[in-house]
Amino acid sequence: MRTDIMGVGFDDLTLEEAVAAGEKLAQGPGFSYVVTPNPEIVDLARADAGYRDLLNGAGLVLPDGIGVVYAAKLLGRPLKGRVPGIDFATGLLDRLAKNGGKLFLLGAKPGVAEQAAARLKAAHPGLVICGVNDGYFKDSAPVVEKIKESAADVVFVCLGAPKQEKWMAQYGPETGAHLMAGLGGALDVYAGNVKRAPVLWQKLGMEWAYRLIRQPSRIGRMAKLPLFLVDARRQSKKERRA
Ligand code: UDP
Repeated sequence: MRTDIMGVGFDDLTLEEAVAAGEKLAQGPGFSYVVTPNPEIVDLARADAGYRDLLNGAGLVLPDGIGVVYAAKLLGRPLKGRVPGIDFATGLLDRLAKNGGKLFLLGAKPGVAEQAAARLKAAHPGLVICGVNDGYFKDSAPVVEKIKESAADVVFVCLGAPKQEKWMAQYGPETGAHLMAGLGGALDVYAGNVKRAPVLWQKLGMEWAYRLIRQPSRIGRMAKLPLFLVDARRQSKKERRA
């Protein structure tokens, strides 16, 4: 049973539970993908039924933003907590390093995935990164072929939303990988180009504010958050009346 937040069904899992579920999916058989919607992504899904179906069709739907956790509370169906995509990914990296699963990194500007791969291999001894590709390709076919040839089990797809979710759903099954995770700007963080908020800010649910201070150009995107919560409040009243 998933928890419905404004049309998107979230898995109510702790980080550890999410990583364990991801590890299981990564071992196959078959293909699935992980999405990590924040309020901005849920808003996109509210305006686009096709995109919403694609999010709901994921093997794991994890609440990346504190805004989703607040909305869940307002709706009277609280989630266990926030599961940031990058924390899920890091947990999965540890499991892959232990069980020998192969990882492919897709996305970000040219050179970033290579840089991320080098740093990840140093931080997770035993991790096998079987290939990388930047996220500014025009034709998907050669990228699909490259992933197939690499025999990757897991692919981190970091193309930003909604592109990454659409890409995973459309091309993922052809690649032979068992699991893909859409992780936005994670490769920039792993490469060391973008810093995450200090842990205290993360624990206080203030990571969004830290990102805003570091990248003020995100203001337009973040201004939607209060509106999202107002809508959640409205929805909650509507459900109580029904
Ligand atoms: N990106 C990409 N291809 C594109 C558009 C974006 O690889 O066509 C990358 C971009 O370089 C960045 C990531 O996708 O690394 C998106 O980062 P952003 O911080 O916007 O994502 P968020 O974490 O907020 O979802």
